[in-house]
Order: sequence, then structure tokens, then C-alpha cells
Amino acid sequence: MNTMPIRQFGDPVLNQVTTEISDIDSRIASLAKTMIETMYEAPGSGLAANQVGVQKRMFVYDKGDGPVVVINPSIVESDGEWTFEEGCLSVPGLSWEITRPNRVYLVGRDLDGNELSIETDEYEGRIFQHEMDHLNGILLVDRLDDDQRKAAKRLLRQRALDIATTDPDGLRSLLGE
Ligand code: ZN
Repeated sequence: MNTMPIRQFGDPVLNQVTTEISDIDSRIASLAKTMIETMYEAPGSGLAANQVGVQKRMFVYDKGDGPVVVINPSIVESDGEWTFEEGCLSVPGLSWEITRPNRVYLVGRDLDGNELSIETDEYEGRIFQHEMDHLNGILLVDRLDDDQRKAAKRLLRQRALDIATTDPDGLRSLLGE
């Protein structure tokens, strides 16, 4: 099995906007395979390329019926409202109730370069919005309301302190140094 380390909260790569993929070649195919294996190993239901340090517009997901690769995605329409408890592999162990649009219409390309066009809602729609946020350099913590954010900052600070006392190398990687 071939996996890559998942970048954690504090790593600047997570705050950068990714760039379009111009050639869907064998390197992209092999990156997609590694990302899928990394996602399953975590385990998680979605993973964006910049979460493994690659600044490209691509994500993989599995809503429960097998892996799907989405290249150069964009959400062209969304409506409604749905509240769901969302977590993130880059902020492990934490989750928050987040309200976002429910129904989304996503377009992109598959690994063969064919056009993907998916209209969906609820869980799959939530995955799409979460992964699109990653590709635009936005983290779940940026979506929290003021009270949630204050509590999250306290937790993350405490976690950094815990790591600092038990694992100085872990702290450096958490801080992206
Ligand atoms: Zn995430």
C-alpha cells in the first residue's frame, strides 16, 4: 500500500489555493491512487490533493459505494440548507455542526478526461463542499461561528501544549516548521 502523510492544521499548504490540472497524465493517475489509499487508511470519506501537500485541483471521495476521483471540480449551483456534523482529516478527532447549502451541482473531469456532472444533496453534497473548500485554501475551522471558533482555538492550543510536553517533533510538524 502506498500512502502519503496527511498535512495537519497549521501547515500553510492547507491555506493555499490549488491550481488547475492541465494534463491528466499517468502522474495524476498515480497520485489519485495514492490519495485513495491514504483516504482509506486514515480512514476518511474525502481527501483533497493539498491535504497530501500537492497544490492541484483534485479530490477523491467515497460516499459508501466506492472511490471516485474528481479533477478540476467546480460547484456551479447550490441551494437549500442542511446542518451536519463535519470533521476533517487535517483536524483529527474534532467535529462541528456546520450549516451549508444542501443540494449542489458539481462539474469536473474524471481520470480519463471525461466530463463529470453530479447533482446531489445531503452527505455527498457535503463532501463536495468540504473538498472544494480545501482546494480553495479554506479549512473547516474557517467555517465555524464565533462561539465554535473560540472553543476550537482553546482545544487546538491545548493540543499543541500536550504535544509540546510529550513530543517536541510533533509540535514542530503541527506548526509546520
Ligand atoms: Zn477536510
